[in-house]
Amino acid sequence: MIVIMKNGASPAQIQSVVDRVEELGFNTHLSTGKEQTIIGVIGDERPVAEGVFRALDGVEKVVRVLKPYKLASRDFHPEDSVVPINGVSIGGNRLSIMAGPCAVESREQIFEAARAVRASGVHILRAGAFKPRTSPYSFQGLGAEGLALLAEVKEQLGMAIVTEVMAPEQVEQVAEVANMLQIGARNMQNFQLLHAVGESQMPVLLKRGMMSTMEELLMSAEYILSHGNGRVILCERGIRTFEQYTRNTLDLSAVPILKQLTHLPVVVDPSHAAGNWEWVPRLSMAAVAAGADGLLVEVHPHPDKAWSDGPQSLRPERFRALMDMIEPVAQAVGRTI
Ligand code: PEP
Ligand code: MN
Repeated sequence: MIVIMKNGASPAQIQSVVDRVEELGFNTHLSTGKEQTIIGVIGDERPVAEGVFRALDGVEKVVRVLKPYKLASRDFHPEDSVVPINGVSIGGNRLSIMAGPCAVESREQIFEAARAVRASGVHILRAGAFKPRTSPYSFQGLGAEGLALLAEVKEQLGMAIVTEVMAPEQVEQVAEVANMLQIGARNMQNFQLLHAVGESQMPVLLKRGMMSTMEELLMSAEYILSHGNGRVILCERGIRTFEQYTRNTLDLSAVPILKQLTHLPVVVDPSHAAGNWEWVPRLSMAAVAAGADGLLVEVHPHPDKAWSDGPQSLRPERFRALMDMIEPVAQAVGRTI
């Protein structure tokens, strides 16, 4: 951290900053310029808020040197992390495609959806049993009944399951069925939930909040990692902007940037970004070209009858076409599918 003193700060003010820095256990490095004095704070600054020094008399600004996250950082862990899930790896050379309906609606619907995506080569089924809905009057998911249906799919079709957990007290129940716990965009900063999934040691699909920065996403990942759970996969799913054509704006720059900042796998959910199935194939190709480790795609056997997110869900045959479209793109960026 660097503390920049105001032009004309008095020697007493400078000394009191130095005293405070040393009192907190850091060493100092003083650089006295003609106009301004700069105090280097030497040591691991992460536990200290900038405000501790900014509040002192004569301080103009405080600049951090280290990234606020550590375990999630590539500086700390240079090699790519690979998360194994039920015999498949997320983050390796092979693209990981996770697909399925927004929610489990019935035995018939979830089996039809699962069989359809499996026929297109998908090993990981996505579907929510607990749904975080904007309106309390909207379908909230089948809950425990939905989980039981996912358990049947898992057993009968041998697919891995990724499904959302919304509260710390649900973690145990959801973890009994899921191969990977999904933290939804709305819960990205539910710190008690992050703590609970961290303790669970289960793979976690952490979605970026629609109003969160990449750094905030990485800080949320850090919560999970700091509880000893290194199996975290980040998911870009669109952020809120002024644009109205799409449900959210897919922030594709997050892919190469996150891949640079962190060793964690990064996947893209084009469905919740677009809000319309017609744009999902193109966004998927773009995500793969940008370096995503995988995709999370909503597929419903009958989107017109879906209880949630029908307009953005691909029909099975359109999903099949999407898989064919992304294959040459994957090859072009050195990936297999
Ligand atoms: C979902 O995956 O169905 C979902 C609710 O996503 P998000 O949390 O990104 O809105
Ligand atoms: Mn959805």
